[in-house]
Amino acid sequence: MSLNLGIVICMECSGVHRALGVHLSKVRSTTLDKLDRSIMEYLKSVGNERSRSVWEASLMRSDASKRSRPNPSSNAAMREMFIRAKYELKSFLSPTREKDRAALHSMLFHAIEHGQLLPLLQALAWGANPSWHNPQAEQRTALHQAVMYSNQVIVECIIQHMNGELNAKELRGWTALHYAAYQNDKALVELLLLRGGSQLACELDAGGNTPLASALAQCAASGETIVAEVESLLKAAEEKVRARNREKRYGQDGADRREAICVPGKAGSGLL
Ligand SMILES: [Zn+2]
Repeated sequence: MSLNLGIVICMECSGVHRALGVHLSKVRSTTLDKLDRSIMEYLKSVGNERSRSVWEASLMRSDASKRSRPNPSSNAAMREMFIRAKYELKSFLSPTREKDRAALHSMLFHAIEHGQLLPLLQALAWGANPSWHNPQAEQRTALHQAVMYSNQVIVECIIQHMNGELNAKELRGWTALHYAAYQNDKALVELLLLRGGSQLACELDAGGNTPLASALAQCAASGETIVAEVESLLKAAEEKVRARNREKRYGQDGADRREAICVPGKAGSGLL
């Protein structure tokens, strides 16, 4: 399957997809790789038919061009030519595609706000950048926005279209995880930590608060309580990072000491 495209592909096509590079298609084996529930939900929500309606929009309109589509008996060269034309050259996208960057980004944010997966995939296929900071939305990125609207499939879609780096910050220095924690959203806190790593739990906002600290402060101010699972997930992640940092420090100290013992320094010669 291809994680970002949300489709299932055969063995022959997967070779070409891998050759396209991960910026276009992130290929995983459905049997060898462990696919979690969120990925499966995303795959179910997109699927081959919906994906084709985006990537082959202009092809699907005419019967003549439909015939140029490779079939199971097509040879490898034909297959590769078609796949490259489809995803690399973007030859079959809808002819009415938006070319203006600003229009694309407003389409991206609009799709997220309304939970519309297909227009979102369209905007991304046309080249909208999910890491772009929206000056009209407190400098939030598409990821912040998707978390704000609490739609897990949309959040997964955005993450799969990014190249790591889930720690982008908006105006107040909040990451997407700050939003998920603030909203007491256990599923999204879990998903962000899974895709972005524990390090995300130690990102500080402009006031020097981790996602947990800022959520606790908000709860205290409004008299609400934080969901216990959200708190323990974030605490565990923070602790993991602290333990890792301690290990790193001790590791360095050890190396320094060894160096001091092995290399005769000035102090040693002074003793002689
Ligand atoms: Zn195939």
